[in-house]
Amino acid sequence: MPKAPLLRRGESYFCSECSHFMNKEHVACPQCGTEFSEVMEERPHPEADIERLEELDEELEETTERRSAWLAIGAFLLLALGVLVLVLFLRR
Ligand SMILES: [Zn+2]
Repeated sequence: MPKAPLLRRGESYFCSECSHFMNKEHVACPQCGTEFSEVMEERPHPEADIERLEELDEELEETTERRSAWLAIGAFLLLALGVLVLVLFLRR
């Protein structure tokens, strides 16, 4: 018989091979016969994933900040060019 971990979600157990639902710990799956080598806590939202998401958020914020900085520089250059053109035009 193949061995696989028994997944635990709160008070429920799931076979990691066939996803069979069990309301108590079993040594083997009643559905597919897989022997359970260990009980593994199933986390729907692993902390590592949340940390990764926060990192992505920070990266996104940085990109947005950089973009607005470039926008400000671009707007300033455009304004300076406009003033320059206006000055040259008025001199004539
Ligand atoms: Zn099973």
